[in-house]
Amino acid sequence: MIVFEQVVKHYPGGYTALAGVSFEIRHGELVVLSGHSGAGKSTLMKLIPVIERPTTGTVRINGQDVSHLPRRATPYLRRNLGLVLQESRLLYDRSVFDNVMLPLVITGHPPRDAARRVAAALERVGLDGRGKERPAGLSGGEQQRVAIARAIVNRPSILIADEPTAHLDPDYARDIADLFRSFNEAGVTVLVSTHDAGLFAASRPRRLVLAKGMLVGDGAAVGAAA
Ligand code: ADP
Ligand code: ADP
Repeated sequence: MIVFEQVVKHYPGGYTALAGVSFEIRHGELVVLSGHSGAGKSTLMKLIPVIERPTTGTVRINGQDVSHLPRRATPYLRRNLGLVLQESRLLYDRSVFDNVMLPLVITGHPPRDAARRVAAALERVGLDGRGKERPAGLSGGEQQRVAIARAIVNRPSILIADEPTAHLDPDYARDIADLFRSFNEAGVTVLVSTHDAGLFAASRPRRLVLAKGMLVGDGAAVGAAA
């Protein structure tokens, strides 16, 4: 479902963010990506929706080689991906409802069904009835839930989240981790990066560990060791 083959990513200026990374994530897996700051986690995640492209190597999503995917084809790819990335900020001059509705507006979804889906997505993340509020009035954890609702409103088969629990209090962080586990239990393939792999230990995820752009670990989580 997600296949990386010898993926290398150099940024202009000579930074090697990924130095030959290979792995395969199968349908229905819950995968936690960890590693120190600068290890290449964000870069790896951006290659999946083709926000970045590999310098060499191949990225395959659902059997399709996306490494050279034409720019005009990326919206079709992203329609099947739920993304909670560092860059996917909320629109603070819009309501919570409008923020979650945005992906459906972009894909031209029929308005009545879209409204129903937004309500369902908000309920799914525990924000039912909060649609009229503005993001700025919500806590950090609640804002992250809005971003997650926006990511799942298209009912993607793959959910990718880059450090969704960063900057959150431990209780909020655990709730968000549980939320990802519940999506996974509902059949969604989940790839989530974190500094604190222990947060997800109860879900017994597969763990990928990056260090300096290299995959140095791939296997079942052992206890709560981070
Ligand atoms: P992580 O998410 O694990 O912190 P990143 O993928 O953000 O790691 O970064 C990996 C390396 O690539 C770092 O050395 C970082 O400075 C570099 N890098 C990331 N994005 C860019 C960019 N747009 N231009 C140049 N270098 C970048
Ligand atoms: P541009 O055309 O300006 O390069 P992109 O389409 O590559 O813009 O994406 C711009 C930003 O929007 C990206 O950095 C990414 O974080 C975010 N983004 C793109 N697609 C999605 C999506 N389907 N869901 C959430 N965020 C997205």
